[in-house]
Amino acid sequence: MFAMVARAPGLPLSAEEREDPRPAPDEVLIRVEACGVCRTDLHLVDGELPQARYPVIPGHEAVGVVEALGEQVTVLSVGDRVGVPWLGGACGVCEYCRSGRENLCDTPVFTGCSRDGGYATHMTARAAFCLPLPRESYPDAAAAAPLLCAGLIGGRALRLAGEAQRVGLYGFGAAAHILAQLLHHQQREVYAFTRPGDDASQDFARQLGAQWAGGSDEMPPRPLDAAIIFAAVGELVPLALQAVRKGGSVVCGGIHMSDIPRFPYRLLWEERRLLSVANLTRADGHAFLDAASDAGIATQVTPYPLAEANRALDDLRHGRLHGAAVLVPG
Ligand SMILES: [Zn+2]
Ligand SMILES: [Zn+2]
Repeated sequence: MFAMVARAPGLPLSAEEREDPRPAPDEVLIRVEACGVCRTDLHLVDGELPQARYPVIPGHEAVGVVEALGEQVTVLSVGDRVGVPWLGGACGVCEYCRSGRENLCDTPVFTGCSRDGGYATHMTARAAFCLPLPRESYPDAAAAAPLLCAGLIGGRALRLAGEAQRVGLYGFGAAAHILAQLLHHQQREVYAFTRPGDDASQDFARQLGAQWAGGSDEMPPRPLDAAIIFAAVGELVPLALQAVRKGGSVVCGGIHMSDIPRFPYRLLWEERRLLSVANLTRADGHAFLDAASDAGIATQVTPYPLAEANRALDDLRHGRLHGAAVLVPG
């Protein structure tokens, strides 16, 4: 197989030819059709994820076809089309796993971080943690890939935000462009916040049904019920708290964020809530993929050949993308 490998923090990915991996008894071998590029992959490359094991093949938005089964696998068959998300495994016995919060498992496995992911022509994955992506519902692998993290994390963040009608999205990239469509479909109001002066992203947000779009330094025309922060910028936290009404929530959707500056207690007071989203559960995955297919979400993707993963990461880092970058093996 061919793979793009993160050998050590701070280095560009290196192209490698390797033997195809062999599935363990509870795993499947997957031929990768497409793999999304997520901001978390930048944090991995930069060495900002303590969970990471180097060398590692990044990629946790992988879409592919099952080519071989480990001897214990009964839940999947050869030929099934699946998605491989960030949560690659959970222990099943810790107090979090036993209380329906496997996303907080004490000994989790993360795809493309603590085990090899989808920046490759082939990968293995634990069968029980693969999500079904039948071709009838998701004919285009590249278009489906961003749903597996950008989509899923956005869906979980929205669930934690509670029954919000007016929802602010800070950072209008891969996750927000999916969530905006879902919110629009659910007849909720979207307020999109971008880098100040980023007219192209603001226009993009309006095209996807946003009620209002402006710079992150602006206040929305009316107070929000909830705000979700997808940009990894701590300065946005006090701004978002200021934009939500009494009792409103601010949810941080990223795995990494720059430090949050000091802010006056009055921004949090009046029962505003500030929380983060970590990882996902399989139940989140199933619920979100059902909702996405009902809502007819159309992702905007920019495909790159797998061998050009470094260029895709660079374009993501410098904000040169609308929607999501997706790697496609040649
Ligand atoms: Zn556990
Ligand atoms: Zn991700």
